[in-house]
Amino acid sequence: AKAAGAGTYRFFDSSLNASSARDVELLTRFKRAIRDDEFCLHYQPRVELQEFGLVGLEALVRWQHPEHGLIFPNDFITLAEENDLIVLLGRWVIAAACRQIADWRAAGLPLVPVAINVSPKQLKDSALLETVMETLARYQIEPGLLEIEITEGCFIEDFDTANRVLEQLRANGLRIALDDYGTGFSGLKNLKKLPIYAIKIDRSFVRDIRNDNSDAVIVASTISLAHNLGLQVVAEGVESKEQLVHLKTAGCDQVQGFYFKRPVPASEIVEILRRGRFT
Ligand code: C2E
Ligand code: CA
Ligand code: CA
Ligand code: CA
Repeated sequence: AKAAGAGTYRFFDSSLNASSARDVELLTRFKRAIRDDEFCLHYQPRVELQEFGLVGLEALVRWQHPEHGLIFPNDFITLAEENDLIVLLGRWVIAAACRQIADWRAAGLPLVPVAINVSPKQLKDSALLETVMETLARYQIEPGLLEIEITEGCFIEDFDTANRVLEQLRANGLRIALDDYGTGFSGLKNLKKLPIYAIKIDRSFVRDIRNDNSDAVIVASTISLAHNLGLQVVAEGVESKEQLVHLKTAGCDQVQGFYFKRPVPASEIVEILRRGRFT
């Protein structure tokens, strides 16, 4: 059953909910994969639009399955979230990102902040703050070098609790960005109240930005709203020069996307860190 669609192996498709024997097997397998370090992080550059300088990296998890090859997060994050395994995986991601920053530093490379994705279940984990701060301390990393990306899904159940954890992370020096902006339901109240410094416009608005006038209007309005609230704007999923030019003209601050770089293994980031820009 390899290679469904774009070459990605659909690992969990038909088995997400049913509590079959196969599920139990998958869960056992998943735990073992965390223990055996079968997960890895790929990194995608974030680029500012004035001089095309590198301003950050987003860490994106992959599962290097010994038999099935590279499995992408859309094929296992949902399962992990339904089973609290996301907390275990999340801890692994925090540690792996910090270890990587420490390795780059040891190699004498200029550093930029690394963003990790934190899912709603992780924000509800009372140990999150402690885990993050302990891991940063263990690798002697300044909190400003780790960023947290959250989605509006974090606020569906309990806004105040989620917000409190974020306030604590912020007070400890971490920066927080609101991811997938425009796809959630919780509206503008979040933008006003949350201790975030940036929003990331979801790539569904970027895809047709040149041809779909409503997408262009949404993006332009979002940028002006964000700027008026003192927030930076990052556009996701920028694949073409035309999209880039449009976004720059609209006043967008930063972009991420295949146009500059796909997510790549840490080894391929070394040269990018050394150079520090994309011009
Ligand atoms: P996301 O946080 O919105 O991450 C951006 C996704 O868009 C990544 O997919 C990235 O590879 C993809 N992307 C970047 N630039 C382009 C582009 O120009 N065009 C297109 N078509 N796609 C682009 P990926 O790595 O498959 O991750 C998918 C989602 O899985 C992420 O979406 C995030 O929600 C989740 N995820 C990834 N890593 C983690 C993690 O460590 N923890 C948690 N909780 N979730 C994660
Ligand atoms: Ca993200
Ligand atoms: Ca996103
Ligand atoms: Ca997403």
